[in-house]
Amino acid sequence: MNEISKYISLKQYVPIGTPEISNFELKSEEIKIENKDEVMVLNQFISVDPYMRARMTEKKNYKEPFKIGKAMDGLAIGKVIQTNSNNFNVGDIVSSNLGWRDKYATSEKNIKKIINQDIPLSAYLGPLGMTGHTAYIGLFKIGKIKENQTVLVSSAGGSVGSTVCQIAKMMNCKVIASTGSDKKVDWLKNELNVDHAFNYKKIDNLVLYLKEVCPEGFDIYFDNVGGDFLESAIFRMKNFGKIIICGRISQMSATSAGSGLKNMAHVLVKRLTIRGFLIFDHENDSDNFQQDMTKWIIEGKIKFKETIYDGIDKAPQAFVDLLNGKNIGKMLVKI
Ligand code: NDP
Repeated sequence: MNEISKYISLKQYVPIGTPEISNFELKSEEIKIENKDEVMVLNQFISVDPYMRARMTEKKNYKEPFKIGKAMDGLAIGKVIQTNSNNFNVGDIVSSNLGWRDKYATSEKNIKKIINQDIPLSAYLGPLGMTGHTAYIGLFKIGKIKENQTVLVSSAGGSVGSTVCQIAKMMNCKVIASTGSDKKVDWLKNELNVDHAFNYKKIDNLVLYLKEVCPEGFDIYFDNVGGDFLESAIFRMKNFGKIIICGRISQMSATSAGSGLKNMAHVLVKRLTIRGFLIFDHENDSDNFQQDMTKWIIEGKIKFKETIYDGIDKAPQAFVDLLNGKNIGKMLVKI
């Protein structure tokens, strides 16, 4: 049976500055399943992620730019509503990378069945999805976190950051968490039990502040923001400290190239390791993550919050608001 699919596409590239809702448009098209291996899926949740900002420019990045006028791809969880496939039944819950659409028709090759449904579906886009995997790989494989270390986390009230904080706490680490609103500070302190959380927007001199709240310095800095925050953190690293470069959201929409790090001498003298990583390189290393994270969520050791906007037409607003820090935890759109 034919259906109408509504989807969001990019109207034009946005080389610099913060994207606006007017950069996107809601479109629709008729869809149907024809071939033997095809299914039709009604999305339940779609993921709204900072990396999408980098795909809104024509510049070559680690992923292709979005195609103007086409549906924006990205992670989503949905339910099979029609099937020609022997491997998928109506009602199966599946994940895809087909993005900002309410429904889609596709080959079974483009979807993956989700088996454990005792956990809320949306978690498969958060702690049990790409952002949780990023936190896990970043800490264990890239940062080689050890028990009782001191860990600084930026964008700690977001999806990756809040998972990083909780894993580090499970490792008996001392966690200092930075975020951009008092509400997020409260959540980090009172529910996620970090050792100290602060609103970076209220701090005049970050280097002095970090020295005051954590005089011994940091073994690990999990960097989600880049820019001036990274430079300040370098000043406060311990000898042989590790900086995990996960994201650079403070620079993604910047209108100038910035001046670069001015304190590389600290990297040398303290013998720091600074290492970037992309989770896409670790897709085949997810078994331990899935086992551990499923257990931790069921045991209540990993808590998660979500900021959920309702309806495919709200995806652009959710994205603009994500870049402006209006989310607590994972930003999602519910279909
Ligand atoms: P978040 O849930 O953390 O949301 C983004 C947050 O960034 C906002 O809520 C806001 O929080 C913060 N932010 C926005 N502008 C600034 C700024 N100028 N300075 C400091 N903070 C800012 O997103 P995710 O958890 O999905 O992603 C976190 C980071 O991890 C991002 O940088 C993302 O690109 C990166 N990432 C990297 C991956 C990889 O493979 N390396 C994979 C997935 C994500 P606040 O209120 O604190 O300002």
